[in-house]
Amino acid sequence: MIKTRITEMLGIDHPVVQGGMQWVGRAELAAAVSNAGGLGILTALTQPTPEALGKEIARCRDMTDKPFAVNLTILPTIKPVPYEEYAQAIVDSDVKTVETAGRNPEPFLPLFKSAGIKVIHKCTSIRHSLKAERIGCDAVSVDGFECAGHPGEDDVTNLILLPLAAQRLKIPFIASGGLGDGRGLAAALALGADGINMGTRFMVTEEAPIHEKVKRAMVDASELDTALIYRSLNNTARVFKNSIAEQVLQIESQPGATKFEDIQPLVQGAKGKELFEEGDLDRGIWSAGMVVGLINDIPSCAELVQRIVADAEEIINERLAKVVQA
Ligand code: NAD
Repeated sequence: MIKTRITEMLGIDHPVVQGGMQWVGRAELAAAVSNAGGLGILTALTQPTPEALGKEIARCRDMTDKPFAVNLTILPTIKPVPYEEYAQAIVDSDVKTVETAGRNPEPFLPLFKSAGIKVIHKCTSIRHSLKAERIGCDAVSVDGFECAGHPGEDDVTNLILLPLAAQRLKIPFIASGGLGDGRGLAAALALGADGINMGTRFMVTEEAPIHEKVKRAMVDASELDTALIYRSLNNTARVFKNSIAEQVLQIESQPGATKFEDIQPLVQGAKGKELFEEGDLDRGIWSAGMVVGLINDIPSCAELVQRIVADAEEIINERLAKVVQA
C-alpha cells in the first residue's frame, strides 16, 4: 500500500485521482474509480443545470459508498454558466472534496470551507500553486505541459514543475499531466508529489462513458497525436489531433488576430459531446494528453488502478532499491 498525505486527506486507498473531464466525468466513471480505491471526480459542467448536478451526485452515491469529488472548471465558455449555483449544488449534496480549475477559486472558498469541503485547485504554474496555498486551498493538482485540456501558457513540464512544487509548497500536491502507468506514479512520488491525477488514461477504460471508437483511437495513437489549439486566444488546449483540430490550427495560423467566432462552430462542446456519444472521430474536438502514447489497452478502472499501484511498488521496492545497492 502506498500511503501519502493525499490518501490520508481524502480517505482513499491509493494515491490515484481521476481528472475532471467535460462529458466524461459522469457517475459511471467516478464511481468505478472510487470503488477501485482512487478518487473519482464528477464534472459539474457536464450536467446541464445545477439541479441535474445534484441528481448526478445522488446517482454516484448509489453506485459507490467510497469518497468522490466534483470538478468545477471556470474557463471561457460559449454560454454563460451560473457558477455560484453549481457551487451551491455541490455544497447542498454534501460532497466532501471539490477540484477547482481554470481560474482563482478564492470567491468560492468561503462557501466550500464553511461546509467543511476540501478544495484541490488545479494549477499549471508554481506561482498559481503558491497563491492557492496562500488563499487556503487544502491541496493543489500541479498540471504539467503534457496534460490534456488547458495547460496554461507557460509550457513548463512536470520534470520541472513537480520538484519546484516539492521545494516551495507546504500543502500536499498531486501530479497531473503525462501520468498513465506505474512508472509515472513512482516518478511522481520521487519528484515529491503525494499522488497522481489521470484524465486521459481513465478515458480509455471499460467504464468511461464514451464511444469505443474514441477509446480505440487513443489506444492506436502515439505521443505525437495531440495538438495545441487556441494558442492565439490565450486559452491553449491540448486536444486529440484529428481533422477538426488541424482545421482550427490552420485558421489560427492565418495572418492577423484569430476571432473565436471563426472557430466556434468547429470546437463547440456540444459537438464534442456528440463525438463521444456517436464515435464519429471528426465531429468535433476532444481533450487528450501526450500520455496517449503510453496507452495500449482498455482495462477496467479496478484493473488499471491495481496495476499502476503494483507496478509502482515493484519499481520502488525492487528496481530502485537494487540500483541503490549496486
Ligand atoms: P464550450 O462549448 O463553452 O466551448 C468550447 C471550447 O471553446 C472550450 O474549450 C472553451 O474553453 C473555448 N472557448 C469558449 N469561449 C471562448 C472564448 N471566448 N475564447 C476562447 N476560447 C473559448 O465548452 P464545453 O466543451 O461545454 O466545456 C465547458 C468548460 O469546460 C469550458 O470552459 C472548457 O474550457 C472546460 N473544459 C475544461 C477541460 C479541462 O482541461 N479541465 C476540458 C474540457 C473542457
